Amino acid sequence: MKNLLGLILEHYYFFGKQVCLTCYRRVDGSYLCPRCQWPLCSETCWQSEDGPHQRYECELLASKHVHPTMEELKQDDCRLYDCIAPLRIVLDGQRNPERSRLWLGLEDHRMYRKKIGIWQIDKHTVVDPVRVKWQLGDRFGDDELQRACGILEVNAFEVCDEDKSISARAVYSHACLMAHDCVPNTACTVNPATQKMTVRAAVDISAGQMITTSYTFTLDGTLRRRAHLKETKFFDCCCPRCSDPTELGSHLSSLACPRCSGRNYTVPEDPLNPESYWKCQGEQCGNRIGPSQVNQLLTCLQRKADELNYDDTRGLEIFIETWSSILHPNHSILIGIKYYLCHFYGNAPGYQLREMPLHLLARKMKLCEELLGVALILEPGASNFHCSLIRELELTEREFARGQTSEEDNETTDFEDDNRP
Ligand SMILES: [Zn+2]
Ligand SMILES: [Zn+2]
Ligand SMILES: [Zn+2]
Ligand SMILES: [Zn+2]
Repeated sequence: MKNLLGLILEHYYFFGKQVCLTCYRRVDGSYLCPRCQWPLCSETCWQSEDGPHQRYECELLASKHVHPTMEELKQDDCRLYDCIAPLRIVLDGQRNPERSRLWLGLEDHRMYRKKIGIWQIDKHTVVDPVRVKWQLGDRFGDDELQRACGILEVNAFEVCDEDKSISARAVYSHACLMAHDCVPNTACTVNPATQKMTVRAAVDISAGQMITTSYTFTLDGTLRRRAHLKETKFFDCCCPRCSDPTELGSHLSSLACPRCSGRNYTVPEDPLNPESYWKCQGEQCGNRIGPSQVNQLLTCLQRKADELNYDDTRGLEIFIETWSSILHPNHSILIGIKYYLCHFYGNAPGYQLREMPLHLLARKMKLCEELLGVALILEPGASNFHCSLIRELELTEREFARGQTSEEDNETTDFEDDNRP
């Protein structure tokens, strides 16, 4: 199954960065759209009549004379851009009945968004600016705009431009229909130049089986993943991974048991309940820990991990070594750092494979192998995670073998030198 799903990509969230509304590249405000005065990158983007800016908001914004001021454009966080994507969704539906049906088919979790206050935030950042400040209340209703915000929150994928300076969210009309699973059976890649998404089967998918992707971070433990899904996608995940105390044997959340000094691991009795007690898996032990104690420990370690200096590889290695006696070596806090180090060694300036001493190459191979063990369970098959680790491991093994041979050669030469009469 290749290139299974096509895409429609026109509706972006920009996270407050000033971008060209046609091609989504960063802009500095030096070229403004001659009609509406919003920044574009160049005349080419203004001339592009089938570009999204011309097709959607340009005329409307021009008619109301609404555009960011120079002051607003200089801000790091220009919230006016938050209004563009919801506006485009509503306009798209208003103009085209077929597209309107497409938008109607997408979930917006209205009730839940109301309950947790996102509704209020969207009212403040999108609905009120569009309806009141931009005087477009007669064209766009509260409900329509709220629904567009909800559709984006629930269905959008995160995408980046080529140099990763712009992070945006985009709705892909087919890919967003994929269900979530914390162990997805597809691999999605977005070409940063074209923003086209390719969805490939990572493992064999039989006819009738659900096609799934992950809406959250695979390397987060169950507590964080479920909280993130609840907060951003508004549902309680009960997939096989979330329901398993050991996360399918990957142990991404497991803690070393304090009573049997690390020989066994402590896992939640009920992984779907954040208030659950945790219990040692050792048959003889069965030591239990309360949820607040677990929470305290994890908050403290997470804070320490967040404060780490990622340029200091020695500090990262010490952190891993220190906390491996308290956490499972695969614990998400450690595995995130291991993943970083695994890519740092061999790729960062001063750490190219050819420059690294044998012991560092060996360390990188060990990290690759540990991470591959996790990848095999959580992102099996042809996933991006799994494939990139295999590639890194192969290159490192090759370099290691080369390094060993030249070291042996050196030893032989030394020996010959020593025995020279
Ligand atoms: Zn442009
Ligand atoms: Zn314009
Ligand atoms: Zn799950
Ligand atoms: Zn124990």
